[in-house]
Amino acid sequence: MAQIPDTVRALMRPSAAELEPYDPAFTPVEVNLSANENSYGLPAEVRAAVNQALAEVPVNRYPDPLAGELRAEIAAYYGLAPENVICGNGGDELIYNIFLAFGGEGHMVLHCPPDFSVYELYASLAESPCESVWRDPATFAIDWEKLRARVANATVTIVTTPNNPTGTLADPAEVEALALATDGLVLVDEAYMEFADMRSCASLISHYPNILVLRTFSKAFALAGARLGYVLADPGVVSALAAVRQPYSVGVLSQTAALAAWRHRPQIQPTIDEIVQQRGELYTRLSELGDLGVTVWPSSANFLLVRLPHAHEVRCRLRDEHSVLVRDFSSAPGLTDCLRITVGTPKENKRLVDGIVSILREA
Ligand code: PMP
Repeated sequence: MAQIPDTVRALMRPSAAELEPYDPAFTPVEVNLSANENSYGLPAEVRAAVNQALAEVPVNRYPDPLAGELRAEIAAYYGLAPENVICGNGGDELIYNIFLAFGGEGHMVLHCPPDFSVYELYASLAESPCESVWRDPATFAIDWEKLRARVANATVTIVTTPNNPTGTLADPAEVEALALATDGLVLVDEAYMEFADMRSCASLISHYPNILVLRTFSKAFALAGARLGYVLADPGVVSALAAVRQPYSVGVLSQTAALAAWRHRPQIQPTIDEIVQQRGELYTRLSELGDLGVTVWPSSANFLLVRLPHAHEVRCRLRDEHSVLVRDFSSAPGLTDCLRITVGTPKENKRLVDGIVSILREA
């Protein structure tokens, strides 16, 4: 992508002028384990149902702005009202809208890095000051005491569970304690919760008007390309998010695909179980490479964080010599020499491990 020339930068909003275009660092490869997608895709019968629904939906009309049908079915599943649900063009858009609605000067965002990089990016675009309570550098556990001590000063506090890129879970009881300690909002980002053996904070929505839960169809539901996420929250908070959103940001094709997939949850569950099973096997394989200097953290998501010698070089060689793409966090603060690896199919995982072993043995 072209550089932003100084003459263009001079015209930009100051908070945007400091930014560079987002680079997902994607290279075409045979095995893509870099973006935490669902490597299995939808089961054939579900894909057929999605295709059928897409074939029938009219596209000459604008979409239902609030995705009424999908919203109602999601709400019913969680035992909530449709007014508790808002859909977005991926979870990303909803995070952005949260900062748009509740951000700006004096509206602090508090989060627990290392976590999802877009929080800081969107906070800065919304001109919200952003503060960090760093996770334990060895275990990546949240420092709840420190977080509770600062939560009252924040307009939005973010707890990511399971956390990206570390895979770490957060205890819902700690989330409740946070919500009780502030008049601000507590955003619980559960993008990967379907892969975890932990109760969702969705059940807290009816009791805590300041808790928001973010979910997505991009991971477990294998619809990253459709761009559909949703937030569960108090109706008042949902209305604030509805006020700032672009009315037609979620297209009819995405709404239709998501609805068809949502109605086939039982048929998708075996794929989720398989990913969890493969995560365990990949964790074991990588744990056995301790003599080559590999450390791997337990994960409740569909990816694993690993630390290994010369991670940046290993990542490049995996890509160039083995056609396997993983995500490089080796120069990110708190993640020295770390790579994030999406759990793939057994064949993909084997190719990854064989690649790592051959590269590290040579070194
Ligand atoms: N939250 C977390 C923690 C994520 O990792 C992601 C995707 N990488 C999202 C939210 C947003 O996902 P999407 O926009 O695809 O729904």
